[in-house]
Amino acid sequence: MEQSPILIAGAGPTGLTLAIELARRHIPYRLIDQLTEPTTQSRALGIHARTLEVFADLGIIDQVLQRGHKMQTMTVFARRRQLAQLHYDRVTSPYPFAIILPQAETEALLTQRLQELGGQVERGLRLTDFTHNGKTVVATIQDVNGQQETMHVSYLVGCDGAHSTTRHRLDLPFTGDATDENWILADVTINPSSTRRSFGLFLDPQGVLLLIPMGQNEYRLAASHRAVGVQPQEEPTVAEFQTLADHYLPERLHIESASWLSTFRIQYRHVANYQQDHVFLAGDAAHIHSPAGGQGMNTGIQDAYNLGWKLAQVMRDNMSPMLLASYSQERIPVALNVLKETRALTRLVTLRHSIAQKLRNWLMSFITRFGFVQTGIVDRMSEIGLHYRPSHIIREDWRGHTGVKTGHRAPTPELAQGVNHVLLAFLFTSDADVLAPVQQRYAELIDIQIITDDERLQNIYHANTDCFYFIRPDGYIAYRNQPANVQQLLVFLSNYFV
Ligand SMILES: Cc1cc2nc3c(=O)[nH]c(=O)nc-3n(C[C@H](O)[C@H](O)[C@H](O)COP(=O)(O)OP(=O)(O)OC[C@H]3O[C@@H](n4cnc5c(N)ncnc54)[C@H](O)[C@@H]3O)c2cc1C
Repeated sequence: MEQSPILIAGAGPTGLTLAIELARRHIPYRLIDQLTEPTTQSRALGIHARTLEVFADLGIIDQVLQRGHKMQTMTVFARRRQLAQLHYDRVTSPYPFAIILPQAETEALLTQRLQELGGQVERGLRLTDFTHNGKTVVATIQDVNGQQETMHVSYLVGCDGAHSTTRHRLDLPFTGDATDENWILADVTINPSSTRRSFGLFLDPQGVLLLIPMGQNEYRLAASHRAVGVQPQEEPTVAEFQTLADHYLPERLHIESASWLSTFRIQYRHVANYQQDHVFLAGDAAHIHSPAGGQGMNTGIQDAYNLGWKLAQVMRDNMSPMLLASYSQERIPVALNVLKETRALTRLVTLRHSIAQKLRNWLMSFITRFGFVQTGIVDRMSEIGLHYRPSHIIREDWRGHTGVKTGHRAPTPELAQGVNHVLLAFLFTSDADVLAPVQQRYAELIDIQIITDDERLQNIYHANTDCFYFIRPDGYIAYRNQPANVQQLLVFLSNYFV
């Protein structure tokens, strides 16, 4: 019998990533978006190391690196003097930097990849309502002429942004608060004679100005407050940004024009559960927060990357729907952490009290001189350090405390690409034949890589004796086993692939 498709509502970065994950596993889906044309707004600019690793797996990394602008350092200034500099090359990833690329371009690359896989975005279609009975979902979608269509779908995933229809129809509270600060932002073209060129965060007793280079003479400016004499309800202008740039920057930045001027108010909100039966929420539909640290789009993409393979495994390989419960369980702590940290960062850069500001400036300048502090900060910002412990789908039979723990990202993302699980089998004394039962039973689901002599990998995984690392398709370690015991591995696999 033909399977009902999965319906993905919303073709922003989250929905597009999910569609690619399903398309490359040949899972039937429909991806709809209410907009008749893709958005041209630059919105999210920062693509962090972990997302770059995901993009390598999805097959768009070359284009992203080619089109984007590499960010290797972030410099913090206070009253025009350099206070601290963060170095992204401390991130242990094949991509020890962030890439600056307007969100519209990232979405265009994802869309192109989806098309290469035979997929498409169905535009001008809006999810208006749905019912679900614990087994299937009946969704109503409407085109731009008001024509309605009723669809029976196996799952609905609401990737429909901060004002999510899916979340409203589920009647899930979007718990949190909004700040009363009005931030302004502009994407500007500067005169080439301007001297400022690098990424910077400029602190001042009045607030903060953020400057991100987007291309040759293109910059994103964002400020936590209005220029002196401008009322909060007024629309921002180029002249206002010029005033702010003159006030904050040590060098001259001559703004010629702006392609986007906007205001925004920071909100911190999230839902308590990302799943109700066969309906899921992902991306901004499930969590929103301050743009500080540039985490929003990255977090949404990784929601989709976590959910995609699980949906495919349940639909294609008849794995237990219990697997899907791990999506909420694993991703909610990540989002809560992002909310907490972006709130703390936003507060830190907008401190009002002069003594607190002095203390902050001294502390920032002092602690960032230590390498381990730098590494800690960039690991968090790049999302390389995030892990899924505890999760009900990870386990280990491991003697001792060494090695890479389960639930953590496999530190060799290049070995964890593709749609299958990967078994890294470090076999120094045993023969590869011991894995014949695994090969026979799980040939379609697991790619086995036997390592007999590779000092680099042995060091990374602390593999001094025979052992196994079992890596999920999203690159996190689901199980490890030492000393290598194939019977234990088989028991784990038979409980895992149920
Ligand atoms: C000014 C600004 C700067 C930002 N900077 C960064 C940054 O540097 N780094 C970062 O990581 N994040 C940043 N963000 C956040 C980032 O833009 C969002 O987190 C990201 O867009 C979320 O992606 P999404 O796919 O979940 O939702 P969205 O991008 O909002 O996409 C949702 C899609 O769903 C569609 N839709 C909505 N309702 C329906 C419906 N009922 N039926 C069908 N389709 C529907 C919409 O048309 C839209 O295309 C920034 C945001 C803003 C506003």
